[in-house]
Amino acid sequence: MTLDYNRRPSFADRVNAAVDRALTADQATRPPRDYLGGSRLGHACERALQFEFTATSKDEGQDFSGQLLRIFAIGHALEDLAVAWLRGAGFDLYTRKGNRPDGGQFGFSVAGGRIRGHVDGIIAAGPEGFGLAVPALWECKTMNAKNWRACVKDGVTKSKPVYAAQIAVYQAYMEATVPGISTAPALFTAINKDTAELHHEQVAFDADLAQRMSDRGVRILQATDAGELLPRVATTPDFFECRFCPWSARCWGLPA
Ligand code: SF4
Repeated sequence: MTLDYNRRPSFADRVNAAVDRALTADQATRPPRDYLGGSRLGHACERALQFEFTATSKDEGQDFSGQLLRIFAIGHALEDLAVAWLRGAGFDLYTRKGNRPDGGQFGFSVAGGRIRGHVDGIIAAGPEGFGLAVPALWECKTMNAKNWRACVKDGVTKSKPVYAAQIAVYQAYMEATVPGISTAPALFTAINKDTAELHHEQVAFDADLAQRMSDRGVRILQATDAGELLPRVATTPDFFECRFCPWSARCWGLPA
């Protein structure tokens, strides 16, 4: 196939570009996150987490694209739908304090505010007949069909360890404000973005995992304070995580 580089932008190209411009301009007005996200602690690479925590400039062309911003927005919209579906099914699900639109999100802030997280929801009661232990953390993710099938087959802990780490960390850190949340298994919802199928599973609290992730957070903060870069996750840049890392050129351009 020969690509026609002189082709004039189509109507669709121009509209899409206008949408992307608006999305990226809006994103540019938002201050970068100045804390380590509890949801990210299970990421494979501690060095990447350091780059993320310090808001290090990404490699050229790696800033949030319009498409990526749309993916995030669709995820949030689907999560709102899941809230409505679960409530409709009889789950007493709180996503904001007092369940008021102006109520703050549930979350935690530790290490002097340098590690923080916001939870998707807390289940105060399940429908009759489920015998659900409460209060239970609720975590919702959207996935493509391939990842969703893997999650159904193997469970979230095996198929998506980063989500399992997030659940364990959140259960541990939310215990201070929502006593009992680490005793009750969390409810995990996975939405198949391609087929609208749902997956639900209960995830028991993994105290060892929570501790390992908490230690990891401390290690990242301490190394960053000391001006040290933690080791790479891999020995060559063609490692899976590195190929998709927005700091790959920077990282592999450093001596070690
Ligand atoms: S390029 Fe690889 S080793 Fe370097 S920060 Fe990214 S994931 Fe980690």
